[in-house]
Amino acid sequence: MLTSIIGFPRVGNLRELKFATEKYFKHQISQERLQTVAKEIREKQWRLLKENGIDLIPSNDFSFYDTLLDSAALFNIIPSRYKELNLSDLDTYFAMSRGYQGDHGDVRALAMKKWFNTNYHYMVPEIEDDTEIKLTGTKLFDEFHEALHLGILTKPVITGPFTLLKLIRYTGEKQLPDFVEPMIHAYEDLISKAQGTEISWIQFDEPYLVHDLSSDDIALFKKIYTLLLAKKGNLKVLVQTYFGDVRDIYHELTSLDFDGIGLDFIEGKETKSLIKKEGFPKNKLLFVGIVNGKNIWKNHYGDSLATITWLKNSEISTVINTSCSLLHVPYTLKNETKLDADYTKHFAFAEEKLEELNELKILSDLDSYETHPAFIKNLELFSSKRKNSYDPEVSKRVSEITDQDFTRLPDFFEREKIQKDVFKLPLLSTTTIGSFPQTLDVKTNRSAFRKGEISESEYVDFNRKKIAECVKLQEEIGLDVLVHGEYERNDMVEYFGQQLNGYLFTEKAWVQSYGTRCVKPPIIWGDVYRKSPITVEWSVYAQSLTKKPMKGMLTGPVTILNWSFPREDISTQEMMYQIGLAIREEVLELEAAGVRIIQIDEAALREKLPLRRADWHSDYLNFAIKAFRLCHAKVKPETQIHTHMCYSEFEDIIPEIDAMDADVITFEASRSKLTILDSLMAHHFETEVGPGVYDIHSPRIPSVEEIEAALRLMLDKIPADHLWVNPDCGLKTRGETETVASLKNMVQAAKNIRNECKGDI
Ligand code: GLN
Ligand code: ZN
Repeated sequence: MLTSIIGFPRVGNLRELKFATEKYFKHQISQERLQTVAKEIREKQWRLLKENGIDLIPSNDFSFYDTLLDSAALFNIIPSRYKELNLSDLDTYFAMSRGYQGDHGDVRALAMKKWFNTNYHYMVPEIEDDTEIKLTGTKLFDEFHEALHLGILTKPVITGPFTLLKLIRYTGEKQLPDFVEPMIHAYEDLISKAQGTEISWIQFDEPYLVHDLSSDDIALFKKIYTLLLAKKGNLKVLVQTYFGDVRDIYHELTSLDFDGIGLDFIEGKETKSLIKKEGFPKNKLLFVGIVNGKNIWKNHYGDSLATITWLKNSEISTVINTSCSLLHVPYTLKNETKLDADYTKHFAFAEEKLEELNELKILSDLDSYETHPAFIKNLELFSSKRKNSYDPEVSKRVSEITDQDFTRLPDFFEREKIQKDVFKLPLLSTTTIGSFPQTLDVKTNRSAFRKGEISESEYVDFNRKKIAECVKLQEEIGLDVLVHGEYERNDMVEYFGQQLNGYLFTEKAWVQSYGTRCVKPPIIWGDVYRKSPITVEWSVYAQSLTKKPMKGMLTGPVTILNWSFPREDISTQEMMYQIGLAIREEVLELEAAGVRIIQIDEAALREKLPLRRADWHSDYLNFAIKAFRLCHAKVKPETQIHTHMCYSEFEDIIPEIDAMDADVITFEASRSKLTILDSLMAHHFETEVGPGVYDIHSPRIPSVEEIEAALRLMLDKIPADHLWVNPDCGLKTRGETETVASLKNMVQAAKNIRNECKGDI
C-alpha cells in the first residue's frame, strides 16, 4: 500500500512566506532574498513529507500567490497589459495578482474568485484573442529538480487542461473552443519535456469534474485526454479530483488511459456507489481520498479501513490519499501550546494528517488491524463523549423555533418608505463596509492586551481613541452612514466566536485565504450560545460621537459557520440555527441601545453553496437563508438591516439573496465587471444595493473619474434611490493613506453624480 497527498500548505509553518512577500512588496527585501525564503520552505516541507512516510510527495504545489495562476503563467497566459509593464517575471506575476501602480504603469489585478466550495480564492486567468498558449515557464521543472537535488523524488502537480480551460476568462471575441487545440499542444509539450526527466508520476488536478457537466464538457474532457494520454509514454499520469464526486463522467474517466485516478471519499457522496455500480479498472491505481483535507477532526480509522478493505477485496489497487489538498487546514498541532490535550487529541492538522496516512497504511497492510494499538487508541477516541460539547438548553431553544421567527414585518416596500422618512439620506448614500485599516498601533494594542502587558482599560481607551478618530475622519471625508472601524476585531469570525460559548481557538492555526492573506478559523467544539453582549458598547460609544447614523456591525450565522471548522457530530442546519439565535440576541440589544442601522455580514454565504445544483436547496439554501432571517426578523420596521457579501458570484441565487429580506446589500463588484447588475434587473431584485465601486484587495487608488464611470454604469441598471456607494469590502488590509485618498475620491464621485441625477429631475 502506498500513500500520497494532493498538496501541502505553502505559506510556511509560521507564515514565513507571507511575511517575506509582504516585505518584498514594501521593498524591504530583495527578490533574491524572497526566493531563498521560498526555497527553504519547500525544502523543509519535502523533508517532512519524506520523514512521515509519504510515498508520492507533491511538488509545484508551492506558490507565491496562487497555483491556478501559476499554471496559466507556465503556459504564457498573461494578458498584454501586464506584459507591457516590462517588469521581471515575478513582478509581472505579482502585478496580475494584486495590481500595479508605479513607474511602469497603472493596471488592476485579475479578478479573484472562491475556489470551489472553500474559503480559498484563486486568481481568474484571462485569455485575450492574441494570447499564444505555449509552454514558456519552467516552475514545474525547477521545483521538481530542486527536490531531486535534495534526494527526494516528487510528483509534480499542475492544474489539468480541462479545469484550466473552464476557469479561465475569455476577454476577447474568441471563446473556449478556440483555445482547445493550442491548450492540448501546450500540455503535450509539457508531457514530452517531462519524459526527458526523472519524473515518474505527474498529477493533473481536474476538480472541475465534480460539477454538473454537460455533454459538451464530457466530450471536451475525452478529446483532451485521449490526445494527451496517447503521448504519455512511460510517464504515469494521475488525474486528481476533489470537493465532490464525478457522477457525470465516471464511466468516461475510468475508460481513459490514466494510470491513476484520484477520487474524493469525503465530500463525494456518490463515490462509493459509483465504484460499486460501475467497477474500477484493475490496471489503474485508485487514489482513495479518505483523509479529510478540509476539516481538522481526527480520521475515523474504523470507517476508513472498512472502505480500504472493501476496495482491496474488490481487487482494486489503492493508494491512500487525502480528500483534497491540505492547503485548507493549518500546518500543525505542535504550534498549539495552550489547548488542553482533552481537546487536541480529537484533532489532526496537516502534519498530523500525514501521520494518519502513515498509520492507515500500516494498519491496512496487516491481516487483522483490530488489535493494533493505533487502531484501539483511535477507536477509544470516537467512543467517548467529548467534554463540554452538549447543552440541552440550546437544543431546546432550537427545537422551539417556528416560522414566525423567520418572518420580518411589515414587508420590504412598507419598511423602505418608513426608513426613507426616518433617515432622510441623500441619493447615492455613501458608506463603507465596516473595518478601517488595521495599522500597526491597532494590532500592537490588541496583542499587548492579549499578552497581559496592558490593562483592559488601557486597551479599551486606545480603541475608543481610534474610534473617535475614525468617526472624525469619516465626517471630514463626508460619508453619509458611518462605521466604528472594527479596531477591536482581529477577524470577523474569530471575534464573534471568542464571545460565544462552544468555540475553541488556536494560536497559530493559519490557513491561506488568498495570496499573503491567511485566516485562523475557530473550531466549533460544542453547542453555541451568546454569553453576554458582544459589540454593543463599542457601537453605542461610536454613535454617541456623531449625528450621522452609525452602523452596528455583526457577522451572520452562515458566515460564522462557514469560516469555522464545523463539528461533524451534528447537522449544519442545527449549527446555523444555534448561531442565528445568538446573533439575534445581539441584534435586538443593539436596537434597544439606539443603534438604528445594523449590518449583518454574510460574506461567505455563496461559498458553501453545493457545487451541484441538485443539492442547493435540500442541502443548504433552505436553512442558510432562514438562519439569516432568524437574526433580524424581530426588529422594528424603522431599523435598517444591511448585509454584505464578498464576491458577486451569486447570479444564480438572486431570488434567494432577495429572500434574506435585508433592506440593503453591499457586495464586491469592481473586479467582476458588473455583470451581476443585469441579473439583478432580470430578477426584479427588491433589496437596495451597494455594488462595490472600487477594489480593496489592491493598494491602488481609484480616480474620481473611474468611480464616476462605474456609478454611471450602475445607474443604467439600478434606480438612483436604490443605489448605495461603497468600496468592495472592509478596509482593514489597506494602508491609511491610500484608504483616505480612495474614500475621498469615492465621496466626490458620488457627489458629482448626485448632482447630475438632480439635474435630470
Ligand atoms: N465588516 C467586515 C469588514 O469590513 C466585512 C469583511 C468581509 O466582508 N470580508 O471587515
Ligand atoms: Zn467583503
